Amino acid sequence: MNRNALKPFKECNVLIVDDESMSRLLLESLLSSIFACSEAESGKEAIEHCSAHKPDLVLLDMNMPDLDGLDVCRALKANPETKDIPVIFVTATLDVDSENACWEIGASDFVMKPVIASTLIHRIKTHLLNKLKTDYLELMTFHDQLTGQYNRMYLTNEIPLLIKQVARDEAKVGAIMIDIDYFKLYNDTYGHLKGDECLKQVAKILADTVRRPKDAVIRFGGEEFLVLIPYADLQGVSQIASRLVTAVREAAIPHEKGIDNNVSISVGYAVRHAKDVIDDEMNSFIEDADVLLFEAKESGRNQAVG
Ligand code: GH3
Ligand code: MG
Ligand code: MG
Repeated sequence: MNRNALKPFKECNVLIVDDESMSRLLLESLLSSIFACSEAESGKEAIEHCSAHKPDLVLLDMNMPDLDGLDVCRALKANPETKDIPVIFVTATLDVDSENACWEIGASDFVMKPVIASTLIHRIKTHLLNKLKTDYLELMTFHDQLTGQYNRMYLTNEIPLLIKQVARDEAKVGAIMIDIDYFKLYNDTYGHLKGDECLKQVAKILADTVRRPKDAVIRFGGEEFLVLIPYADLQGVSQIASRLVTAVREAAIPHEKGIDNNVSISVGYAVRHAKDVIDDEMNSFIEDADVLLFEAKESGRNQAVG
């Protein structure tokens, strides 16, 4: 893989977690000219920072009051959104048992205090490169090339983890099935390349309309998209579904054989408790939305049915 395809180290965010300000200062002074550093002075702050900012790597002090390094690492690894952030422990003392405990909860590496600057920097670079490469491959694996949105592989491999998280929070999830109206006629009229452009445009409108970070726009098939809305109730999902229909209409993409000469979409949506979607129930959940999409098509298109 070409290194230039990956972001430079200077743009990689390294979170330094240590309860002692002198230690943070020392690490920061060693690293800030090479990486983009930020700091957290407690385990709690570290976990919050990671959820909010998703650093590329965490340098984690082992011994801290309240939540110690092990607690923090465990929490990061338990959260699907932070589980892939490499964690390097920085510690003054380490016996075999605690070393094993670190590996078992998913640490990437250790460095001993007092740190040797060049070793620390090389280790960080090694783990960052691995992380960046993995991220890049994931991006390629889980995104549709044409539209840049998620693909079916993402739906089968990653969405179940998200659904499990929503289920743990005892919340609901919405599924919105979307199909472009008269798209075959669009291709027939304007050609396949224009059709591709139209698909990209619609996908972007969908993604811009569902704005929360956990909402997922998935290219489900040719001109079909599935939007998953975690942590939402029927009313919320119904509003989003209508917003999607309106947003595509308002974009006024010309389609001389479409409804009123513009591109439109039909939408079917359903909502379930996430705990009822876990494992093989995902298919029947999507089926529910698909049946309603069919109704939206049958009863005139350019509308949402739930
Ligand atoms: P309906 O309103 O009932 O949904 O009619 P439709 O014409 O949209 O549905 P149909 O399933 O008959 O046609 C879907 C079309 O989408 C046919 C196919 O050529 C086109 N299509 C699927 N994937 C792509 C793609 O990646 N690019 C382009 N340009 N067209 C695609
Ligand atoms: Mg279709
Ligand atoms: Mg269609």
